[in-house]
Amino acid sequence: MRTIAVIGAGQMGTGIAQTVAQHGMNVLLSDVDLATAEGGKAKVGAAIAKLVGRGKIEADAADGLLARITPVGDYDTMAEADLIIEAATEREQIKNAIFEAAGKVLGPDAIMASNTSSIPITRMANHSPDPARFIGLHFFNPVPVMGLIEVIPGLATSEETTARVTDFARGLGKEVVLSQDEPGFVVNRILLPMINEAVFVLGQSTAGIEDIDKGCRLGLNHPMGPLQLADFVGLDTCLDIIKVLYKTTRDSKYRPAPLLVKYVEAGWLGRKTGRGFYDYSGEAPVPTR
Ligand code: NAD
Repeated sequence: MRTIAVIGAGQMGTGIAQTVAQHGMNVLLSDVDLATAEGGKAKVGAAIAKLVGRGKIEADAADGLLARITPVGDYDTMAEADLIIEAATEREQIKNAIFEAAGKVLGPDAIMASNTSSIPITRMANHSPDPARFIGLHFFNPVPVMGLIEVIPGLATSEETTARVTDFARGLGKEVVLSQDEPGFVVNRILLPMINEAVFVLGQSTAGIEDIDKGCRLGLNHPMGPLQLADFVGLDTCLDIIKVLYKTTRDSKYRPAPLLVKYVEAGWLGRKTGRGFYDYSGEAPVPTR
């Protein structure tokens, strides 16, 4: 694959764009408008500048990488893409509208993928021009660092599509886990109930933020506690995922923790807004409760 279009230039889209460009492919990066897409590329530029500063990447290679990312303001240029990866906000209506609009220019051999964390692939595939060439491609955050991609074929996805996307994921230096199209796939099905439960524990004042995270770090040997991880994922994204799990399974074990809902209503979405369970305005994160 030579040209990859990435729709949604937020945390995940910029990470995907960076990783794809780092592996020599061209990226067309879009968002709600050209200015936001350009802002996404600027974020990649800032991340790369840090890597250059730390001697992890040569300045020449950094320039080359950034030159391979082109912000775009519409879908027309995506006609040349071998793969279109949707990484927009975790709302089914938004994603479906993207598949319908970008689907109009999808090349005859090109594949359309969603980086959704939880929305059923089989259902979204119906909004793409060819469900056989539609698949879930679930990256982890931060994309350049994390070593896993989940590949989720829908009911109609062809074996060829699954094979091509698996090759693409491995070509990015990632390990692949193949998951059936069940709510939350593999990793989020396990992770989100843990994060949600941690927020219940906090909401019931069983322990404070630091102790909950410390408990999981030291007691479970997790590298990061669930509340800090939730801040990294984005509390709005966590809430959207747990809501999808709740709606699709109707299992009460997935009911969102009321405190998680409140944080999202307050606009405290985690690291991306500077405040979630921790405050990120200073040198080191400070727990907010
Ligand atoms: P984010 O809020 O950082 O970014 C979402 C981006 O989508 C924003 O830039 C927004 O402007 C853009 N967007 C909204 N509507 C759009 C539209 N119609 N067209 C184009 N762009 C649009 O969120 P994120 O964390 O990057 O999550 C994006 C997707 O990746 C979600 O589906 C999420 O579930 C999934 N995901 C997130 C994580 C994570 O840890 N955050 C991990 C894996 C997958």
